[in-house]
Amino acid sequence: MRILLIYPYFLDRRLNPEDIQAPPMGLFYVAAMLEAHGCEVEVLNWHDRTIPREHMEGVLRERRPQVIGFSLLHANRWGGIEIARIAKRIDPATVVVFGGVGATHLWEHLLQHVAEVDYVVIGEGEHAFLSLVRHIDGRGPVDAAAIPGIALRRDGRAVRTAAAEPIRDLDALPMPARHFDFAHLSLTRGCPADCRFCGSPGFWGRRVRYHSAGYFVEQLAALRQKGRRFFWVSDDTFTLNRRRVIAVCRQILRRRLGIHWAAISRVDAVDEEVLAWMRRAGCIQISYGVESGSEEIRRRLNKKISAAQIRAAFALTQRYGIMARAYFIYGCPGETEQTIQESIDLMLEIQPLAAVFYILDLFPGTALYEDFKRRSRLTDDIWLERVEDIMYFETDPALSAERILEFGRRLREAFYRYLPGFVAALDPIDRPGFAPLHADFLSRLALTFDQGDYASVDAVPDKPQLAATLYRRALGYAPDARAYLGLGVLNQKAGRHAEAADLLTTGRAHFPGDEQLQVCLAVSLMNLGRFSDALAILERCPSRPQTQRLASACRQALK
Ligand code: SF4
Repeated sequence: MRILLIYPYFLDRRLNPEDIQAPPMGLFYVAAMLEAHGCEVEVLNWHDRTIPREHMEGVLRERRPQVIGFSLLHANRWGGIEIARIAKRIDPATVVVFGGVGATHLWEHLLQHVAEVDYVVIGEGEHAFLSLVRHIDGRGPVDAAAIPGIALRRDGRAVRTAAAEPIRDLDALPMPARHFDFAHLSLTRGCPADCRFCGSPGFWGRRVRYHSAGYFVEQLAALRQKGRRFFWVSDDTFTLNRRRVIAVCRQILRRRLGIHWAAISRVDAVDEEVLAWMRRAGCIQISYGVESGSEEIRRRLNKKISAAQIRAAFALTQRYGIMARAYFIYGCPGETEQTIQESIDLMLEIQPLAAVFYILDLFPGTALYEDFKRRSRLTDDIWLERVEDIMYFETDPALSAERILEFGRRLREAFYRYLPGFVAALDPIDRPGFAPLHADFLSRLALTFDQGDYASVDAVPDKPQLAATLYRRALGYAPDARAYLGLGVLNQKAGRHAEAADLLTTGRAHFPGDEQLQVCLAVSLMNLGRFSDALAILERCPSRPQTQRLASACRQALK
């Protein structure tokens, strides 16, 4: 059977497009399950709202899928509906299945109002989707209503079947990395916390299930073999089970995977030993939900973390050379000038090296959304409007849009203004074996000011100086190719070619195989008029794209 699994487009443009770029992990698990059972499956990442309609139409016409599964968050719900309409117009016999968190909590609404949706998979999708496909091709249950964990229409009414049992042995699932290529993966399913704004408890339940460390690392290794070197570990709280996390880190090191990765955790779920292992195993960033500096707002969100825990986790994470990224939410119940100031004050204490500021959204499946429905006496029919989401402030007369936007502006402005101070205050831990890791940490951070995320942010002051200082600090710990290169280029840009050549020559001595260093050194030598030295270097690294052009310039100069 031919099946397309589509991650549909979002309606609004994103400040950080990377937030939505990767299809949810669950889509690859479902795809692997179907492939392992003989289906012909293709995963289409159509998250980008600028993909032309004609392109999508062309692909659907060409592939002629018998079944299309859509992976919905909330914000791409309309993308799913609109693509389903195109698909049904092309071939009304195509079976359309909606799944994911955005479909799970709106199954009744979707089946009532969107004629193109045939089935909704509720919650975990692997077994339910496979049973549905077997039912459709006549090899499974005769009556779809016998399949646990789905919703469908019966006599014109939306009904759901018996709840599916959570999958107990996650390792028994076909490994997605053996079938597909992706960079997001997870060790766990679920989160024991119960934050009122979060959809995780409602989707997974609060009992956490785990892959074994072996399965998780095997999956990393399979993706590494496909050429991936960087991963997003997207567990809700990766470090819940510290023994398992340490086992994962040991295996990554033992197998010399040579990868880097970012993870998500809670400030009350990390400690020194776990952080040390994570850093050794290539972790370079941990995102923590701080949410607010106001204890009262954290209480209203049921976040259940103290300011002391937040301070401790941030300090320790950055001491171990891991970038601690803070999620802040604003526009919360009870938000005032004062609570925003408390968030800024806490930010100044914890000194995050990255921060993300979100306006509080109301999503189906969260406790806040249920409160909202009770307060407003509205129903899920509000989602008939073609919008991505509803902001909490839109439902609270005490909060106006202008004030909330101003709060966001103040938070961001404070972060960027004080960021150089946060960087200057970094104090990596003095621990055997960590010097090269700190060099890597500081030079990566330098790169964000030099060419990366912060390089284009006008509000961040003194970026080139910051980058240069960080590169130098990196080299104070250990030789680091990125730091030599970064400092070399900064010197070149400032016209200090002799200094650049010295640095790059030292870098080259430490990293003789690094062609970027070689080419950069050749450029400095050319600027110093040492064309034959430059040419000798360039002739040794013919694979770099700009080498030929530079080499012929040298030959020209030597004529
Ligand atoms: S916000 Fe994070 S900690 Fe809270 S319930 Fe969701 S996943 Fe768990």
